[in-house]
Amino acid sequence: MPARNKHKNNNQPLSFSGNVNRMADRAFGILAIEPGVAESIKACNSVLQVRFPVNIRGRLEVFTGWRAVHSTHRLPAKGGMRYAAVVDQDEIEALAALMTYKCALVDVPFGGSKGGLCLDPGLYDRHELQLITRRFTRELVRKGFLNPATNVPAPDVGTGEREMAWIADTYKHLEPDNINYLACVTGKPVHHGGIRGRVEATGRGVVYAMREFFRNPATVKAAGLSGGLGDKRIVIQGLGNVGYHAARLLQEEDNARITAIIERDGVLMNDAGINIERVHQHMHENSGCVQGYPDATFSDNGAAGLELQCDILIPAALEAQITAANAARIKASLIVEAANGPVTFEADAILRNNGVTVLPDAYVNAGGVTVSYFEWIRNLGHIRFGRMERRFDELRGQHMISALESLTGQQVPEWMVREITHGADELDLVRSGLDDTMRLGYQEMQQALEEHELGNDYRTAAYVVAISKIARSYLDIGVY
Ligand code: GLU
Repeated sequence: MPARNKHKNNNQPLSFSGNVNRMADRAFGILAIEPGVAESIKACNSVLQVRFPVNIRGRLEVFTGWRAVHSTHRLPAKGGMRYAAVVDQDEIEALAALMTYKCALVDVPFGGSKGGLCLDPGLYDRHELQLITRRFTRELVRKGFLNPATNVPAPDVGTGEREMAWIADTYKHLEPDNINYLACVTGKPVHHGGIRGRVEATGRGVVYAMREFFRNPATVKAAGLSGGLGDKRIVIQGLGNVGYHAARLLQEEDNARITAIIERDGVLMNDAGINIERVHQHMHENSGCVQGYPDATFSDNGAAGLELQCDILIPAALEAQITAANAARIKASLIVEAANGPVTFEADAILRNNGVTVLPDAYVNAGGVTVSYFEWIRNLGHIRFGRMERRFDELRGQHMISALESLTGQQVPEWMVREITHGADELDLVRSGLDDTMRLGYQEMQQALEEHELGNDYRTAAYVVAISKIARSYLDIGVY
């Protein structure tokens, strides 16, 4: 039977969701999953598109937004909310699919979702963004696409704690009887039901992923590298929330040398290393631009920055940065995908053939949703993690664990039992849980790589792990 695939036409470049599907197909083939089951897993379950007017400076402006639910084999469906000048339905669907695979890979019991609003946040002031966000939230709630039990957003490109606080507050006003209203969104400010360590979580997860990779000398050698993280030349694209925290932690905790930073206005280069904190401060004072930073050479050709001589390249910005057009010129030995979808399907094959190792997005940036999970269960449990009076800790911990297990229907992981009953500080709990999650995810990926003899194809290994778990859940339950 001919495949009725909207990305079938070979002359057209693959869309973002086409890229994700083609990458997943390699794993479906290896696992010999029945085509019907594979199609059901790949399909995005539902997408809401909304158009709504907001009064901006005395004039009505119409905004377009989406929320895609890729899978509901686990609930709630989870994923960020992106605000950007260029956002479309295909992008949101692709990002929702990545959420499904990412959660399955690291055993975060969520389905996959993603949302987006087509707007350049830089063009609106705080008050206007609040009006737009609250109105968008209202649309999502009314249409069943935002709810603590079924669909829970989080920050993404162009959004942060502030937007999440507005979302939670709007939800609370619309659904005042829902005792779990705080769990309708994660990534909230700590004083509004957020969890400590969530802001840096994705970046910290990227660093934990890299440490895990460098822990095994054989895999490091296979990637054409040697030694530890400390002496490596690293190029990073994007000093947004993910890139900034990843680069900062690599510099502070691993002594890594960041030799180039690519941002929207160009690239900063200095082989002796660039101070991340100072560049971040410079950007803050110069409308997000790196040009003019004193201790590095600047070039306005940002794209060429990806092709600089280095050991590790960390794309931490947007999708489709490494494509068939520039993949052959990449000089890094290791690419660490902190962004979602930075390498296209075609580029992936070129890189692999050239011996470049790619640590895939579904694994590398899973730290954000992992800590979102901690925040969500903390909100549902109506508890505060962390130390109270020592003598109460053990008893309180046991109650907390039973409450969490009955609320989520899941067994609380071993590390969490340990940390809770010992009354550890909330930040310690988050960090050790994140570390544990990234380690286990890596081990499963490495095991699949070896078992299926995938060479340096960590991406397919990640998809094999994720898809085998999702397929099992589809097959166990059957079709309703
Ligand atoms: N936007 C983040 C991601 O792409 C976080 C999603 C979440 O925490 O739900 O993984």
